[in-house]
Amino acid sequence: MVEFVYKCSTCGKRYQRGAVRYLCPSCVRNYRPGIPLVGVLTAEFDYTAIRRQFKKVKPDWNLFSAVESKFHPPYAMKATPFFRSEALGAEFGFSNVWIKNDGLNPSGSLKDRASFLIVAEANRLGENTVVAASTGNAASALAAVCAAADKRALIFVPESAPKGKLVQMLLYGARVVLVKGSYDDAFRLSLEYTAVKGGLNRNTAYHPLTIEGKKTVGLEIWQQNGWRVPDAIIVPVGDGVILSGVAKAFHDLKAAGLISKLPRLVCAQAENSSAIHHYITTGKYRNARHPATIADSISVSTPSNAHLARKAVLESNGFSVTVTDEEILAAQQTLARRTGVFAEPAAAATVAALKKIQARKLLGPQKQIVLLITGHGLKDVDAAMTNIQMPAAIEPTLASFEKSHNCSTSKGARL
Ligand SMILES: *Cc1c(COP(=O)(O)O)cnc(C)c1O
Ligand SMILES: [Zn+2]
Repeated sequence: MVEFVYKCSTCGKRYQRGAVRYLCPSCVRNYRPGIPLVGVLTAEFDYTAIRRQFKKVKPDWNLFSAVESKFHPPYAMKATPFFRSEALGAEFGFSNVWIKNDGLNPSGSLKDRASFLIVAEANRLGENTVVAASTGNAASALAAVCAAADKRALIFVPESAPKGKLVQMLLYGARVVLVKGSYDDAFRLSLEYTAVKGGLNRNTAYHPLTIEGKKTVGLEIWQQNGWRVPDAIIVPVGDGVILSGVAKAFHDLKAAGLISKLPRLVCAQAENSSAIHHYITTGKYRNARHPATIADSISVSTPSNAHLARKAVLESNGFSVTVTDEEILAAQQTLARRTGVFAEPAAAATVAALKKIQARKLLGPQKQIVLLITGHGLKDVDAAMTNIQMPAAIEPTLASFEKSHNCSTSKGARL
């Protein structure tokens, strides 16, 4: 690890690591629930030291980590698969499409990356309880890492969270509070809880190390891509923290003199939950009024990290697209059938976005495009069920098979 300070993304003030925990103390006064967070902190490292010490032959990723490795929890994480899919690219007229499959993290989503670092920070601070509001994945990841680290996880989730995610949290032993309301309600309640009762709050962007945790996916892509920066990375966006985590990775690499260009970041949002998309395309912020979407992981009325997310897209010369639930479900099936990757709806939004990008000619057909698959499809089987038909059971005889064979087993399926 090298030294770092926190820098406020709103007013620019810098703070020693030990002087702050969540938002910038001067800017937080301007925050109230119902608007995006203000005073989100970002970690600014000693990039000269990183440049001096980082060696591609034996890369020490701890140089980029904001928590000393001695505090890291015993939660087995390794690089997730990164591979080219000619078949998926060809489907949409692109020749160089790649998949980063973060659904294959231990708890099934990219959120493991942030939870891992937050629990490391809890170890460093001697905090035994970690608290979070979540649409589901952040909570199941936190519950998993806390289980491995012998910490208590206290979780606030909307009661509508997919069953698979709820089962995960409970099985890992977290204390789960089902909130009658939306993710935004759970977010507000969890902030009130830690303000009064204590514990370390892991809310996305509220704790600056959520961004740092998520940035490891960007570092990994760079390494797995042969130390090259892809032309574009498509990211499914809810609160906008994964997006700014990916941006932070390439920002850090550039600041350390290890790369010279940035990938174009593409924000993919669900049409009904598109506050950040609206902010990027119009320059004006407003909440998403009814963020109902099948892609539960990107359903949010007030994205906590709207300001940094918009900045990340603009600075990378990126852009934003929205996709409908219908397009997401179709994309989920296309992805599964072309690549063997089963993604949850939010993650499949990247594939739906790729189709839109083709239709609008937003990226050239030869560009290297990475789709960030953020969560596993098995987390939300009900969503995937909407587009398939369960075959009826047959008698265990060939005659019965012959009879059923003439009926289709699932829409568009081939035998
Ligand atoms: C959390 C999540 C997202 C969105 O991340 P944000 O940081 O909220 O933008 C996308 N996909 C999946 C599967 C997630 O769990
Ligand atoms: Zn500030």
